[in-house]
Amino acid sequence: MTAKIEEKLGTLHYTIDKEAHIKVNFDACNDCENKACIRGCPAQCFELVQDEVKFQYEDCIECGTCKILCDKKAIEWNYPRGTFGVVFRKG
Ligand code: SF4
Ligand code: SF4
Repeated sequence: MTAKIEEKLGTLHYTIDKEAHIKVNFDACNDCENKACIRGCPAQCFELVQDEVKFQYEDCIECGTCKILCDKKAIEWNYPRGTFGVVFRKG
């Protein structure tokens, strides 16, 4: 049986940096109609709370989808520093 995305995400390990590797210009989000990041992020790092976009980098799986989807260029995207970030388990 194929595992659901939530189950797969649960197998990941993270070494979380205190500094965010992705920064969002939330001013641009106010005028953004699509808010594609919310539907597009597989790790649900973006959410809409009382009409405001919220972002948490800690669960990021470093896929780059948000940067590609954001047509306002509001995302400053970098990989985490050094050994920080997600660790994928193979198999
Ligand atoms: S797609 Fe970009 S501008 Fe729109 S809500 Fe997401 S981060 Fe903000
Ligand atoms: S890089 Fe991928 S997992 Fe990380 S915030 Fe962007 S869409 Fe979500």
